[in-house]
Amino acid sequence: MTPYPSGLILTGRRVVVVGGGQVAQRRVPALLAAGADVTVVSPHLTPALEGLLGAGEIAWEARGFQESDLDQAWYVVAATRDRAVNEAVSAAAEQRRIFCVRSDDALAATAWTPAVGREAGVTVAVLGNRDPRRSAAVRDAILAELRDGSLVARHHRDRVAGVTLVGGGPGDPSLVTVAGRRALMEADVVVADRLAPRELLSELSADVELIDVAKLPRGSAASQEAINSLIVARALEGKSVVRFKGGDSFVFGRGYEEVLACRAAGVPVTVVPGLTSPVSVPGLAGIPVTHRGIAHEFTVISGHLPPGHPDSLTSWPAVAGLAGTLVLLMAVENAPAIAAALLTGGRPPATPVAVVRDGSMPTQQTVLATLGTLADRLAEEAVRPPAIIVVGEVVRIAFPEAF
Ligand code: SAH
Repeated sequence: MTPYPSGLILTGRRVVVVGGGQVAQRRVPALLAAGADVTVVSPHLTPALEGLLGAGEIAWEARGFQESDLDQAWYVVAATRDRAVNEAVSAAAEQRRIFCVRSDDALAATAWTPAVGREAGVTVAVLGNRDPRRSAAVRDAILAELRDGSLVARHHRDRVAGVTLVGGGPGDPSLVTVAGRRALMEADVVVADRLAPRELLSELSADVELIDVAKLPRGSAASQEAINSLIVARALEGKSVVRFKGGDSFVFGRGYEEVLACRAAGVPVTVVPGLTSPVSVPGLAGIPVTHRGIAHEFTVISGHLPPGHPDSLTSWPAVAGLAGTLVLLMAVENAPAIAAALLTGGRPPATPVAVVRDGSMPTQQTVLATLGTLADRLAEEAVRPPAIIVVGEVVRIAFPEAF
């Protein structure tokens, strides 16, 4: 038997489920989700079906089946444990030309229930030649691949022109979010930063325009202007643009400048947050940024300007006076000056420090120091960016032997 697959639109249509046990309980929610007007015919209901009755979601005929139950019905589910009843239901349905599924005997039925799932706006229905485990397994495999992006199902109908800012996490491609990966796989244009998880870019299909911003001169205002105009221009051409960055777009990522540029041009923007490096990179190195009884705060600071620089917005004396964890980004170059400012502000020279380089990458490396030795240790180990510098007692509890 070869079934003809069809998606039934049951909204507002009468569907009769004969039987009030486990099988009915499994079928009814999907019928309700499709908007069907469900009547259950059965002397008894499971507690879950009683719950639906109490909530007004189903109607109940508290008795045995009668042929007239099928009047006005569009679809029938025969799900009793009694074969004779199921046969009576399917005979009555046949006579009225109503499709009928049977829980006891698929070969005697006029409709089969597929294994169903929904993901990424797609309904997956699998008919496994009456082998329900096999159909469920095929369904699950398809759903899992849709979910993690390995099955690239770009939706052209619902896709809207605009910009999605995707935070890619610290670098390992497995640390991007499910939503981020999906946005990437559905994009027409991807504009990628240097620190974004670049391995994911190799999975993009050949027709996706990939723009590598790492090739623009770094950090200059001109290059940010160029990125803003680029994403706006592509979105105005009707494209779906993903701006793909390292960590989270709003943590020293200039993401909000891009949001403002899009808004000014009337381009819709959405944001997919990412796993930010000041939390995730210490975590990957085994360092908690807070710990009960040790640190009740952590402060994330950009070290791209040295203390005392006229453009600096950080009050280093105030930072030195904090008791909790400090997490410094973009601070390798200025680390000696920052350590000096913290010592001047009263932090003890023995304060433990960890420098974590290339977090989540195969080259990840942790260098331990104290505030007093930080400058020398960085020079000895020739530490180069990107690195996170963690200052505080949380480093001691992570590496008690070292201090
Ligand atoms: N938006 C990013 C941070 C951008 S600033 C985020 O949320 O994580 C760039 C700085 O982040 C780098 O100089 C470094 O200090 C830090 N950084 C980002 N990824 C890192 C990684 N994998 N390992 C170590 N440091 C990292």
